[in-house]
Amino acid sequence: MLGGQTPIIVLKEGTSREKGKGAIHNNISASNAVADAVRTTLGPKGMDKMLVNSIGDIIVTNDGVTILKEIEVEHPAAKMLIEVAKAQDEECGDGTTTAVVLAGELLKRSEDLIDQNVHPTIITSGYRLASEKAVEILNKISDPVTPKDENKLLQIASTAMTGKTVGVVKEHLSQLSVKAVKAILEKDSKNNYIADIDWVKVDKKQGGSINDTELIEGLVIDKERVHSGMPKSVRNAKIALVNSAIEIKKTEVDSSIKIDSPKQLQEFLTEEENMLRSMVDTIAKTGASVVICQKGIDDLAQHYLAKAKIFAIRRAKESDMKKLAKATGARIVNNLKNLTKQDLGSAGRVEERKIGNDDMTFIMECKNPKAVSILIRGGTEHVIDEVERGLHDALRTVAVAIEDGKLITGGGSAAIELAQALRDYATTVGGREQMAIEVFANAMEIIPRTLAENAGLDFINTLIDLRKEHKKGNKYAGVNVDTGKVTDMKKLNVLEPIRVGSRAISSATEAAIMILRIDDVIAAKSMPGGGGGPGGGMPPGGMGGMPGMM
Ligand code: ADP
Ligand code: MG
Repeated sequence: MLGGQTPIIVLKEGTSREKGKGAIHNNISASNAVADAVRTTLGPKGMDKMLVNSIGDIIVTNDGVTILKEIEVEHPAAKMLIEVAKAQDEECGDGTTTAVVLAGELLKRSEDLIDQNVHPTIITSGYRLASEKAVEILNKISDPVTPKDENKLLQIASTAMTGKTVGVVKEHLSQLSVKAVKAILEKDSKNNYIADIDWVKVDKKQGGSINDTELIEGLVIDKERVHSGMPKSVRNAKIALVNSAIEIKKTEVDSSIKIDSPKQLQEFLTEEENMLRSMVDTIAKTGASVVICQKGIDDLAQHYLAKAKIFAIRRAKESDMKKLAKATGARIVNNLKNLTKQDLGSAGRVEERKIGNDDMTFIMECKNPKAVSILIRGGTEHVIDEVERGLHDALRTVAVAIEDGKLITGGGSAAIELAQALRDYATTVGGREQMAIEVFANAMEIIPRTLAENAGLDFINTLIDLRKEHKKGNKYAGVNVDTGKVTDMKKLNVLEPIRVGSRAISSATEAAIMILRIDDVIAAKSMPGGGGGPGGGMPPGGMGGMPGMM
């Protein structure tokens, strides 16, 4: 019953609530803490971070998204920013630090506007206009790139691996990445390139040096042949991909067979033998010299296969079967009885090799393979893991560069060009939104500024020089982190796919807008040991669960 004067309690006891400017400032502080955590890793001279998780595992990395995935933040706004990094990584494989640093800067600068009593909705609508315009400008200043532009693609791969500890072998890894992506290229119905790097299988095995990392035109499977009597190496292999067991089916229900005499037993065994022999005969008759089976292979069948000089692997992964079909041109057969010569694929060589302590099977020298493997080698696990992250960035950036067919220059050159064009654009919009667009334009400069800072350069002088060069029309002028001079990034071969830049801008903007629109944070009472509510006493820069950082 509603009593006339009784206050109405809507929220549960213990719920905390923060409203208005307080909530916005608090969210911005938390976002800045995240941005600050990765800022110092940006660019070729960025530092690495050592992350130690709760069970003591160590990761040394320069990779923005890896750092953000590992640290455990509790603040809801900080979590939103980390989502930006993850989305950027999924879509482009690179530019994660850029996106987060940009989002942090957009938010930091909007605090001034809020303090000047510009309403958040004006800021967000200005940011949205600016972001759309920025992508339009990027397209205008971009250059075309095709799969034939080998050099440009190599430079894109190499730029993507900047700052990773892969330094010395960058060239080697760039070449592998470009070769791999070009191999798996396909075209869709509209004649556009599709570069799905899921068709590049990346394996790693400790041992050897990074330089031994190799591309296999085909597939590497972490399995050995089932029988030592089988050939270890097969040339001009004809490959059967079988998705059914080469065994006699066990009955589903318990059954017993009554055998009365030794003769009957013999007949029964012979019958079984005959069935297995006929299965192997089916395979041998097609001319197959290699069988990759997704299910089991009976011991006796293994023996017959070995006798027929057929190389066989059992219990291959489904994903490997699909890649093998793409690489060798074989068709996966679900019923062994239906296997014909037409289903077979081919490879120049199938071979079992000892890599480190393991025997692996190489299905290699495939003609025009639409799936390939890269086998990463290296002395320690930490090195191998960082090579894997670098390679992932290189593969993705080369792939998106080919898919979009456009590239931009890095080193902060595109950011400065955007800043200038956006300032011009702001005056055409006018009103209060003009202020927001100008702030957005200035925020773009955080990229060259941070690159300069991380290289130990005087960032104010660098920014002044950059603005001057761009005013003169040198749209490729960027930060040369080695000489400290402003240099033409095209001449320095610092190239990036357009998607890395455009996605970083649009996802940073989306995150900033989302965070700015929140003016009321209502948090349920935290469970013991659970996350803190809004403003849970978290100071800027203070995040839980990241000992040993910075
Ligand atoms: P992200 O996670 O955003 O990719 P990185 O640490 O890889 O962060 O740094 C990317 C930035 O470094 C980009 O702005 C890129 O243009 C710049 N960059 C890369 N190579 C060079 C170089 N040789 N000289 C100057 N800037 C570079
Ligand atoms: Mg990068």
